Amino acid sequence: MSKTIAINAGSSSLKWQLYTMPEEVVVAKGIVERIGLNDSIFTIKYGEGDKYEVVKDIVDHETAIHMLLDQLTELNIIESLEEITGAGHRIVAGGEHFKESAIIDDAALKLVDELAEFAPLHNPAEAKVIRVFQKLLPNTLNVGVFDTSFHTTMPDVNYLYSIPMEYYDEFGARKYGAHGTSHRYVSERAAEMLGKPLEETKIITCHLGNGASITAVDGGKSIDTSMGFTPLAGLTMGTRSGDIDASLLPYLMDKLNITDIKEMVDILNKKSGLLGLSGVSSDMRDLLEAQETDSRAKVAIEIFEDRVRKYIGSYVATMNGVDAIVFTAGIGENDVEMRRNVINGLTWFGCELDEEKNNVRGDERFISTDDSKVKVLLIPTDEELMIARDVETLKNN
Ligand code: ADP
Repeated sequence: MSKTIAINAGSSSLKWQLYTMPEEVVVAKGIVERIGLNDSIFTIKYGEGDKYEVVKDIVDHETAIHMLLDQLTELNIIESLEEITGAGHRIVAGGEHFKESAIIDDAALKLVDELAEFAPLHNPAEAKVIRVFQKLLPNTLNVGVFDTSFHTTMPDVNYLYSIPMEYYDEFGARKYGAHGTSHRYVSERAAEMLGKPLEETKIITCHLGNGASITAVDGGKSIDTSMGFTPLAGLTMGTRSGDIDASLLPYLMDKLNITDIKEMVDILNKKSGLLGLSGVSSDMRDLLEAQETDSRAKVAIEIFEDRVRKYIGSYVATMNGVDAIVFTAGIGENDVEMRRNVINGLTWFGCELDEEKNNVRGDERFISTDDSKVKVLLIPTDEELMIARDVETLKNN
């Protein structure tokens, strides 16, 4: 039977999910963590709750993929590697070139490498993984699924920054956004749940995980999104600052005796957001626990919710209306209190939360009242399924 593997490679990790297609059945999934470090962790979940785990040094992605392919046959998850006819690779930066998912041949792979300028930690690792697949599974179709593709429909009014136009023309300085595969999945699913053609819907999708972004999806197309040139912009996130005044950078560098701007940007990426505000943790669960006794944790949560609300409000204006607001990803799917606080601040727009329906974690459903003018939905995201579907589509073209 034909199988497709969806791959999400980070700089030191590799997450994957193996599907039987076109049935869209998950036959196994796993993760390799701490690649290139000591005691890497290699896990596979398969069958009826079976689990294979080994802890040993895995020096690079190639070794990890070797182990993975060996174990898939060893554990009888597949009979032969020939069964894997498609591999879909999540790629962070697709720039303006990759407007949709694409078959990755040598020319496309070169472009992925060139786009590393926009995602220096991610694109090179992803390109490396594709090369390993080309080598180890020469008959498998490799497809790139880009985080940015869904946002390439944004109009210039929304993707241009108000800086000299030459910087866009010459250097590609513009908003690219991220989390596109997730926003695409939940907006399509929301239209199905609303029982309306996607082309006739105005949906605001809130992907709230460690990284967080909100997108205005008009008629199935992204027309604005909160992340920017990189994922640093927009909402308050686990460790990222989100939007700030750029003039703060030289001011703080002066105060902190920092001379390298990269060090300052690193602080905004890794030491800010919920972590920086609270001083407790970047993890929302820790803040929820601490908030009773810790005023900094409390204000961090309040700021997170405020920014979510503000972006939703601004996207209602961008689209001149909204049919549905969708919550997804770790915080969006599980944080009952956050959803309540955000939606109860949007009643003027016609949102009415059903407290009982909202009191749930990770279960796809409407969480607004039946009469609510604007519907509010909880939809667990499924980027891997989207990747597998894109491979299937390109395989059949
Ligand atoms: P990533 O961006 O790393 O994929 P996730 O989508 O897994 O992140 O989201 C991680 C976030 O979800 C963390 O801040 C975590 O605290 C939060 N989260 C998970 N479960 C809950 C919960 N029950 N209540 C509140 N937040 C939660």
